Amino acid sequence: MKIICIGRNYVEHIRELNNPVPASPVFFLKPDTALLIRNRPFYYPSFSREIHYEAELVLKVCKVGKNIQPKFAGSYYDEIGFGLDMTARDLQETAKQKGLPWAIAKGFDQSAPLGKFLPKSFFSDLHNISFHLDLNGKTVQAGNSNRMIYSFNDIISHISMFMTLRTGDIIFTGTPAGVGPVKQGDRLEGFLEDQKVLSCLIK
Ligand code: MG
Repeated sequence: MKIICIGRNYVEHIRELNNPVPASPVFFLKPDTALLIRNRPFYYPSFSREIHYEAELVLKVCKVGKNIQPKFAGSYYDEIGFGLDMTARDLQETAKQKGLPWAIAKGFDQSAPLGKFLPKSFFSDLHNISFHLDLNGKTVQAGNSNRMIYSFNDIISHISMFMTLRTGDIIFTGTPAGVGPVKQGDRLEGFLEDQKVLSCLIK
């Protein structure tokens, strides 16, 4: 399986990092070794001094597809979850300045904590899914799928022009404003609507 992540999909987050609004979806990959599941702890890596959380809605792909038209894209995912696109912001800044890839900054071990998935039928409106992230009991990020620049269907269609999607692939759909650093001892908790689906201790 592969993990595909959309960057720059919420205007407020693009502004907070001083990036331009993209003309088409920006995406990058994480390896399967980035996955962190079952609420296991995240171990702060020694190679970074600035690990950031990015709370994101996540899609689980349920069938193989290539060159998918947006109007058919809805049938290619059946579950929605909550994930953290953990980012070594210091390494990413260095890479950006030098025009180098983000692979280390975004794809290191444990950089993709994933919470419980819920079936699409759990949500009354896929274009109005609220989610939020609490850091030590205080909400630090709150988003809604109605604020995304590129919809779930746009994202699936765009990715599938370049890469065949397969059953079990995971798509991170971008983070809203409010990203920030973590430190050892922090507790991150992710919510879809008001249901807690992820809990992650930073060790
Ligand atoms: Mg992200």
